[in-house]
Amino acid sequence: MIEVSLDWVAKAVDGDLLPTSAKDLKIKQVSTDTRSIKAGDLFIALIGDKFDAHDYLDKAIEQNVSALIISDKNEHVKGLQSPTILVKDTRIALGQLATKVKQSCKVKTVGITGSSGKTTVKEMTSSILKTRGKVLATKGNFNNDIGVPLTLLDIEAQHDYAVIEMGANHQGEIEYTCNLAKPDVAAIINAAPAHIEGFGSLFGVARAKSEIIKGLDKNAVVILNHDSSFFEFWQGKSSTQQILSFSYDSDKGDFHAQKVSINKEGCAEFELVTPIGNTAIRLRVPGTHNVGNAVLAAALSISVGANLANVKEGLFAMQSVAGRLNVSMVNSQIKLLDDTYNANVGSVKAALDLLASFDGFKVFVFGDMGELGDQAPMYHEQIGEYAKQHQIDALISCGELSAFASSAMQNQGMACQNVEEALEALIQLISPLVIDSHQKISSGLAADDQSIIILVKGSRGARMERVIDAIQAYD
Ligand code: ATP
Ligand code: MG
Repeated sequence: MIEVSLDWVAKAVDGDLLPTSAKDLKIKQVSTDTRSIKAGDLFIALIGDKFDAHDYLDKAIEQNVSALIISDKNEHVKGLQSPTILVKDTRIALGQLATKVKQSCKVKTVGITGSSGKTTVKEMTSSILKTRGKVLATKGNFNNDIGVPLTLLDIEAQHDYAVIEMGANHQGEIEYTCNLAKPDVAAIINAAPAHIEGFGSLFGVARAKSEIIKGLDKNAVVILNHDSSFFEFWQGKSSTQQILSFSYDSDKGDFHAQKVSINKEGCAEFELVTPIGNTAIRLRVPGTHNVGNAVLAAALSISVGANLANVKEGLFAMQSVAGRLNVSMVNSQIKLLDDTYNANVGSVKAALDLLASFDGFKVFVFGDMGELGDQAPMYHEQIGEYAKQHQIDALISCGELSAFASSAMQNQGMACQNVEEALEALIQLISPLVIDSHQKISSGLAADDQSIIILVKGSRGARMERVIDAIQAYD
């Protein structure tokens, strides 16, 4: 964080500083978690559904924090020895401080929301912008109403760009975080059935994503997905901002792809078409959905000054993010698609598209998708139907909800209760197909023939990485 005085902080958060003699104290770092606190940090005591950080004030003080921001309703106020700023709501104070820090630094800011692909587009955009200057990007998945302000606090004078991921599990969250970050350019990647429990319906998801437009300044640029059925709805939400669009389709979108081809590793090559010209792009992240992600990252970057050479170099430099559709070979015959990080309807279909694009025996090991509310069985059934339409050879479900997908696959579906059962079913299924290398050579197959492809995916709660570990140990 930029270095500021405690008085500056008190004014930024509209709080009362005690004692006022501490006003010149220098603050360089903020912490909200006593487990990672460092001496000299300013500690902000947040209150969540399951915790109240005011219970840890002693611990923060023991670790030599320089000052505290706490709720003025807190009963311990009187006994505190450390310099303290009293505020009505510590979560709001965190946001106010983040806004002021961001305003003090001249960074071009990019905001990204959508149901799937935020982290990927963020990584692609920052990879492009890194070819031009110093970039601060959201770390990992810090994309909610706490993560966004904490990210903004990391902005320093040396940064040229900030690339901010904005997620939500309830209405109002994106408007709030967008108002803090005030991006120069913001994008909605897509809206898919995800967090339905928090949003009520798919339309509720689309409406929540539209909040990113509401939170923008009038002269900001908005980039929308022309392929989405919500494109016009989102367009209607913007009054004076400049609207641009991106598309996978070569006939639509200010930014789009044409002449798309997919190589043996499942990675796309295509011609990128933009208002500033065209360029050939080679990706090193697999999946056709990444064509749209890359086109969007190009649009975002060009909107803040990147040129086509930056886009080409940055997209080529971008490597897979852990657990997001990583492709690896277990042995010469088994290809593994590890997409265990998380799952919603859109991202499962994207992963099935990649699985379907390979030649060989295709197996999908599917863990339950969470937070889909009453419609969850129907959404899981849809996945089974999608897999069947895409000629997937077998679907092994791993839980009560994903069982609706395996039953939609009829006799190509296998319903298992848990990861252990699913692994057993998988091994029984593929063992007869695994031929040893001697047999392979005598039967005329190349030693590196890849004939079994396994996709593993499920929501975070399903912890499908356990299947990955077991498959990797199988040889
Ligand atoms: P989260 O909401 O958990 O932060 P996210 O929006 O940041 O997710 P990523 O982490 O980039 O998304 O990707 C999550 C999953 O979505 C991965 O399985 C990835 O393969 C898939 N995915 C990425 N981009 C898209 C896209 N444009 N359409 C559909 N699925 C996608
Ligand atoms: Mg993310």
